[in-house]
Amino acid sequence: MPGQDFKKESPNIPITVDVPYRFAAGKYLSKFLIEMRDNGVFYGIQCPACGRVQVPPRVVCAVCHVKNETWVELGNEGVLKGFTTMHMPLTDPTTGKPHQPPFAYGTVKLDGCDSGVDHMINPAANLETIKIGMRVRVVLRPKQDRIGDLSDILYFDPIEG
Ligand SMILES: [Zn+2]
Repeated sequence: MPGQDFKKESPNIPITVDVPYRFAAGKYLSKFLIEMRDNGVFYGIQCPACGRVQVPPRVVCAVCHVKNETWVELGNEGVLKGFTTMHMPLTDPTTGKPHQPPFAYGTVKLDGCDSGVDHMINPAANLETIKIGMRVRVVLRPKQDRIGDLSDILYFDPIEG
C-alpha cells in the first residue's frame, strides 16, 4: 500500500548544534552575581506585600506580582529541599562540559530565603548519606577564579552532623 514503507524506516539525521548564547542579567540578578563574585555574599529580594525572600532575586514577586525592593543578606548555608541522583552525564549549561555520573543535583533553600537554588551536591559526597532536610553549605570557586555567573557556585557541600 502506498505510504506504508516510510513507517518501517526511521532515518537519523546527524546535526551538530553550536549555539553560544548570552543574555543581560538585568539590575537585580546582576547585584546577586556581583556580590557573590566579589564578596562571597548572597542576597535575596523581599516582597513588600507577602514578605517572601526570593533567590535568585526577581524584580516582581512571583506570588503577589508587586515590585520587590528590599535586599536581604542571606547565609551561605541552607537546607536541601529535594534532589535527584543522576546516572547519566549532565552537560553543564555554563561550561558545556558534562558532569560525570553518578552525582546528586538538588534544590537548596538558603537560610533567610523562601525559594530554592538548584545546583550540584559535592560530587565527592557519599550518595547514600544525602537526605532531604540535611544542612548544606555553599562552596564557591576561589575568589580570583570567579567569573560572575552561577558557575561560581561549585556545589553544595553536606554539613556533617
Ligand atoms: Zn509577594
